[in-house]
Amino acid sequence: MYDIIIVGAGPAGLTAALYALRANKKVLVLEAKSYGGQIINANKVENYPGIKSISGFDYATNLYNQVKELGCEIKYETVERVEENKNVVTNKGSYNAKAVILATGAENRKLNIDKERDFVGRGISYCATCDANFYKNKTVAVTGGGNTAIEDAIYLSDICDKVYLIHRRDEFRAEKKYVEELKTKSNIEFVLNANVVNLNGNSKLESIIIKYNDDNEKEIKVDGLFIAIGQEPKNEIFKNIVELDKLGYIVALDDVHTNKKGIYVAGDARVKSLRQLTTAVADGSIAATTAIKEMEN
Ligand code: NAP
Repeated sequence: MYDIIIVGAGPAGLTAALYALRANKKVLVLEAKSYGGQIINANKVENYPGIKSISGFDYATNLYNQVKELGCEIKYETVERVEENKNVVTNKGSYNAKAVILATGAENRKLNIDKERDFVGRGISYCATCDANFYKNKTVAVTGGGNTAIEDAIYLSDICDKVYLIHRRDEFRAEKKYVEELKTKSNIEFVLNANVVNLNGNSKLESIIIKYNDDNEKEIKVDGLFIAIGQEPKNEIFKNIVELDKLGYIVALDDVHTNKKGIYVAGDARVKSLRQLTTAVADGSIAATTAIKEMEN
């Protein structure tokens, strides 16, 4: 029997573990892939208070080492369901706790167009930091208008010969600072009011078809397409145990209670107005301290 089982080893989950371990609780973190969550894809994090600049990978590794030094138990297993009695069932076993914190984050949104899945690793990427080097001195496109897309385009512009930035509007959701920096890059071409609607190629991506909002279409030859159009939650497995909103996020306020006693949610997996590293770690700390307080009452 654990005090707290945390599902997900991203910043929210590992921060919850940090707080629970420092309170001498018996903690199990369950993670399907590897620690760090989405932040490991961030080339640079420059808006985390007190840290001027750090790579997402280094940030996640520091946090991971911090909890491991406190004796955190992490099992790399895929959670299949959470039951009423706070039993957590994975592909390898079943574990019970007094409280469960869901910190499963979100995953990259897909364009959902033909060949997108087939070309992953053969021209399609969702992570510029991971894959940019495969496209050294080549031509790539980035699609999206948020911080991720703009940062990716800036990063790629230093490695690739040419970068197209394709966005469905002519205004950007990204912070102005990034957009201004992007505009200084001579090898970036903006393709605005347009969507990627088709992928061409045999064994790998060779060109993309973009469709402008006025219905005109154009083919652009590229070696790679970086898709950076935001995230989606992956909470389907929890829908029978906690309430989800219509987009699939777990319903909770800033106090991180779900509608089920003893089950809490932290980070990008929940309904919230700002999905950032700062808000993820805030949720993790609140979830652990609230869970501890309530299990002791
Ligand atoms: P985001 O802010 O949700 O932006 C997604 C972008 O993709 C938007 O421009 C959106 O267009 C576009 N989009 C969404 N669905 C689309 C579709 N089906 N087809 C074409 N375009 C589509 O996502 P994000 O950039 O990944 O950022 C996620 C969160 O992480 C944000 O809070 C962001 O600030 C944060 N972040 C922070 C940093 C940093 O601070 N260093 C770095 C990366 C991310 P519309 O604008 O038209 O809706």
